Amino acid sequence: MKQINWKQLGFHYTETDYIVRCEYHDGKWGEPVVTSDKTITLHLSATCLQYGQEAFEGLKAFRGADGKIRIFRMEENARRMARSAEGLCMAPVPEDLFCRCILLALENNLDYLPPYDTGATLYFRPLLIGITPRLGVGPGRDFLFAVIPSPIGPYYPVGFHGTPFIVNRRVDRAAPFGTGQFKVGGNYAASFRGTEAAHAQGLSCLFLDSVERKYIDECGAANFFGIKHGKYITPASTSILPSITNNSLMQLARDNGIEVEQRKVLLEELADMTECGACGTAAVISPISRVIDPDNGKIYEFGDEPGQVSKMLYNALQDIQYGRADDNHGWCRVY
Ligand SMILES: *Cc1c(COP(=O)(O)O)cnc(C)c1O
Repeated sequence: MKQINWKQLGFHYTETDYIVRCEYHDGKWGEPVVTSDKTITLHLSATCLQYGQEAFEGLKAFRGADGKIRIFRMEENARRMARSAEGLCMAPVPEDLFCRCILLALENNLDYLPPYDTGATLYFRPLLIGITPRLGVGPGRDFLFAVIPSPIGPYYPVGFHGTPFIVNRRVDRAAPFGTGQFKVGGNYAASFRGTEAAHAQGLSCLFLDSVERKYIDECGAANFFGIKHGKYITPASTSILPSITNNSLMQLARDNGIEVEQRKVLLEELADMTECGACGTAAVISPISRVIDPDNGKIYEFGDEPGQVSKMLYNALQDIQYGRADDNHGWCRVY
């Protein structure tokens, strides 16, 4: 075990001993390589640099209450990355190869898996890029898949609390039939103008649909959910990234007798919601304390404390991830 102050670890990159990488040439994937070299030599004309052929993922391994290691819904990340690859005309990484690379990244960095009860986890960042040198516009034929592990600290070192958001109608992160449903770097680059403007005011950015700018799309880089008349409401949109956390929370809501609606959600519906939050792998749930709509001079208030349903769902999901509750849906791979 490394001498790391796990509770002080922030939510930033901490280098581990090894990464895993694998290359695709001549129509097939090679064998994964475990290496301590975190750099690559890349032609400046590589399609990832010239035309943004890049997709990524994010998932975690948890040290459980029983001392066992759990990786949460890894196959779902593999499938989503395959869809992102196809969305950018890249060769998909087969599911078994994806999972093998994650396991190699775990096994070779066990010293960096934080102990139970620290709130810290071992995060994996799988990355897929086009590496064919070409200046003529078009997709490459060669790809690099890598898994970069990093221990990360607890998202809420001082407890679960709300975050304020602001609506931005002057920046769209993704078009309805663009790449919003894929986990690609280009969506992030496109959203930075919005997220940075919000951060400058100490806020996070709430993106609306990019056609009418009436419906809630994504909260920064997380999905939105709200509780209205006791129901779990989350947007259906072709420009949203299907969050595995949101999918899991919807299932846990149903398991607990809460009705789930996945449909277009008007921004004004916030007025009828008792609580709402952003959800994703990083924080599970980040409760929303307030949403400011500067164009209409409206503020929707939810308070700093997480609501009852958010707390219940957050605990239910974390209990499964840490092995404190039965994993009835078979979400964890246990080692
Ligand atoms: C990764 C991501 C999410 C969250 O997905 P999870 O699978 O729950 O981690 C939501 N929105 C965007 C834009 C993302 O990139």
